[in-house]
Amino acid sequence: MSGVNEIRSAFLEHFARHGHAKVDSAPLVPRNDPTLMFTNAGMVPFKNVFTGAEKRDYVRATSSQKCVRAGGKHNDLDNVGYTARHHTFFEMLGNFSFGDYFKEQAIALAWELIIKEFGLKKDRLLVTVYHDDDEAYGLWKRIAGFSDDRIIRIATSDNFWSMGDTGPCGPCSEIFYDQGEGLAGGPPGSPDEDGDRFLEFWNLVFMQYEQVAPGQRVPLPRPSIDTGMGLERIAALMQGVHSNFEIDLFRALIRAVADATGVEPDGAMRASHRIIADHLRASAFLVADGVLPSNEGRGYVLRRIMRRAMRHAQLLGARDPLMWRLVSALVREMGAAYPELVRAQSLIEETLKLEETRFRITLARGLTILDEEARDLTSGQNLSGEVAFKLYDTYGFPLDLTQEALRARKIGVDKAAFDAAMARQKAEARKSWSGSGEAATETVWFGVKDRVGATDFLGYETERAEGVV
Ligand code: ATP
Ligand code: MG
Ligand code: MG
Ligand code: MG
Repeated sequence: MSGVNEIRSAFLEHFARHGHAKVDSAPLVPRNDPTLMFTNAGMVPFKNVFTGAEKRDYVRATSSQKCVRAGGKHNDLDNVGYTARHHTFFEMLGNFSFGDYFKEQAIALAWELIIKEFGLKKDRLLVTVYHDDDEAYGLWKRIAGFSDDRIIRIATSDNFWSMGDTGPCGPCSEIFYDQGEGLAGGPPGSPDEDGDRFLEFWNLVFMQYEQVAPGQRVPLPRPSIDTGMGLERIAALMQGVHSNFEIDLFRALIRAVADATGVEPDGAMRASHRIIADHLRASAFLVADGVLPSNEGRGYVLRRIMRRAMRHAQLLGARDPLMWRLVSALVREMGAAYPELVRAQSLIEETLKLEETRFRITLARGLTILDEEARDLTSGQNLSGEVAFKLYDTYGFPLDLTQEALRARKIGVDKAAFDAAMARQKAEARKSWSGSGEAATETVWFGVKDRVGATDFLGYETERAEGVV
């Protein structure tokens, strides 16, 4: 059986043998890209190479890219622990052609890897193509020998990729694996496509156009290839398990959670173990790449991830800060592939310990209040926005933590009232500030804050949101 570390190497070696330069993962905080919260795909560090703005000394590359999808356009945070296939942090394996080979070789290389090297069974595989991409359709037929029912035409944006409103774009083709009739869900494109039976594990993007203006597309003179395969998903397929959380890597992390809490990962507690293991990875890798918990921007996404895991640690009965004690298990599993984890180990541990120590002061009390306030609510009802705001403001509960805590009972939160309470508090803050007689300073202060927006501004709201901490 292939472990995650071997599968990663096998992927990179396959493409290296076919002339691809092995490129290290870029950091999770994208360089020179203020539009993006976190690196969320393998192509992100190559954006300028695809547009031609930047030249490298290779035209083919392969990488295993650290990705976080927990904020911004791609946000899988709410899925984690509840679907078998989503993580906040995951590794995207990719091969890239910058104006070199195109569709035919991309499909041939992908097919060779998954059949010959990874040993996936052909009769379990099916693919999607963009509805008008007859070229990809024909290539799959010829190269893989698929019958027509194995190649599904999709007309939605799921199978058409673009970098932004302008720039490179093109159809994509995704590879799915049928995990067996015992599982729920229909094939891609069907009304119940979201079940576990058909697992999407690889996306091949064919960049062949440039969007020059809305509604105006021209062919690229030298089309390019960008692919992304989820390492945890391919590992699940190769290890014959139906959930990413059952692969070797996650079994080891979940074992560490069980050993540290004395609670076995079964029954109702299983989601908690999974969420803790997932969020541990995201937290550790974000800290290693220089993000620290705060109340704005990236730091706040990190804080939300950490605190969510910490609530689950509390649910498992942890009496002391738990997360930092799991870091060594993570370093054992992933430190060889990502030396930055080893280098940052003590910073990661200290950061987690401090955050959990602070949060635990208000966590138990906040959970009690949440329980009391939600006790009489039933499925479909909403918790009051004022209560959610008090939990946020006084007890340091990010809104999504409150939402997640109520999710199992299908209770929502009155988000509009929460936002209104937040806006009121901000207005109050301005008013009391102007009372200090420093009107000029105040204008500058809030002006800067408004302009800087969601970056690492650490002003008044920091103290408020942290409550008594
Ligand atoms: P899904 O439909 O399952 O949410 P996606 O279509 O959003 O996946 P892509 O943007 O096509 O995913 O990314 C390429 C590949 O990265 C996917 O085929 C999958 O293997 C992997 N992937 C995407 N999101 C996640 C995630 N949150 N956790 C783990 N792997 C992921
Ligand atoms: Mg997705
Ligand atoms: Mg998809
Ligand atoms: Mg996809």
